[in-house]
Amino acid sequence: MKITRVSAHYLRLPDVTARCDGTQDTCLIQIETDAGITGWGEVDSAPTVVKAVVEAPLSHQISNGLANALEGLDPLAIDVCGARMLDAANYYGRVGVGTHAMAGVNLALWDIAGKAHNCPAYQLLGGPYQTKFRAYCSILFGDTPQETSELARRFADEGFTAIKFGWGPMGQSEKNDIALVREARKGAGADVDILVDAGQVWDWKTGLKRAEQFAEYGIFWLEEPLYPEDVEGYACLCERSPVPIATGEAESRYRDFERLLVEGHLDWVQPDPGRCGLSTMVEVGRLAHRLHRKVANHSFKSGITIAASLHGLAAVPHGEVFEYCMADSPLRHDLTHEKFAVVDGYVHVPEGPGLGVTIDEALVEKYLVN
Ligand SMILES: [Mg+2]
Repeated sequence: MKITRVSAHYLRLPDVTARCDGTQDTCLIQIETDAGITGWGEVDSAPTVVKAVVEAPLSHQISNGLANALEGLDPLAIDVCGARMLDAANYYGRVGVGTHAMAGVNLALWDIAGKAHNCPAYQLLGGPYQTKFRAYCSILFGDTPQETSELARRFADEGFTAIKFGWGPMGQSEKNDIALVREARKGAGADVDILVDAGQVWDWKTGLKRAEQFAEYGIFWLEEPLYPEDVEGYACLCERSPVPIATGEAESRYRDFERLLVEGHLDWVQPDPGRCGLSTMVEVGRLAHRLHRKVANHSFKSGITIAASLHGLAAVPHGEVFEYCMADSPLRHDLTHEKFAVVDGYVHVPEGPGLGVTIDEALVEKYLVN
């Protein structure tokens, strides 16, 4: 089998605001083959920049677009495709958006591999260790503590056993930070787990103070309290924090996850397959397991990323909770025909070939930006 075409599709809602919500736009990767099999991937990054990385014309041997580098290769040779992309993007894309674009390609290649073998991708990755995961509802903090309380009550009433609140007003003041978490707990009740995603707002000493203050409300974890580069800060915080610390969504290379786990002493690592690829997500999960740490997905995009995340977690030995984005966007809920309903608090790993999703092409047309 050979890759015949690699395309990047930029989708965007009519109104995009500055809120920290990755479901307002997306970049899909489509890979076609001479066997008639098509694979789909998705990237969580700056969509037009990803598209440029995919479509860049040949400049010279180690500065080439990903589509050029991939055409003619065997899509089942997934590691070889990865190596060719790294060669092509050597001068401009070995980190950041270059690796994000490669991640989207990696998802599409696993989709093709599963379809070619008529089995779910997790099987080719050595799974499943589990076929369902406890879903935590992932939303943004309300603008006020009161609004946060109402959101917590609403999603607890919907049957979620865990709710994560992220970003928004967190980090503006000590008093408000505490009120947000207190009201989240009040709204959710005593039996629902509360997860706090701070959104890169503190130095490690302030992060530690908040971890101690939030511990009173029994939070499940404190996520991304520091800047992604502050690995030393994570080490100081993780050694002292009374609550588990989670981060990793901003990373895309194995070595950066490894550094967070080994040098940063992280408790929970959160690879996003749309930024690091399914291959790397599984490697990171296995490393976390060897180090007796935990892994959870980061996913704030469409059903493609949800499916990829489920396959990734199914292929590691110790998956527990699953980030289930509840942002109110048609790109989140309607891009795939599969809806990934939460049943009794759990979301099931798709069983169809490849990533196990089918794309609603009318929706792609509707939100496509040419
Ligand atoms: Mg986060």
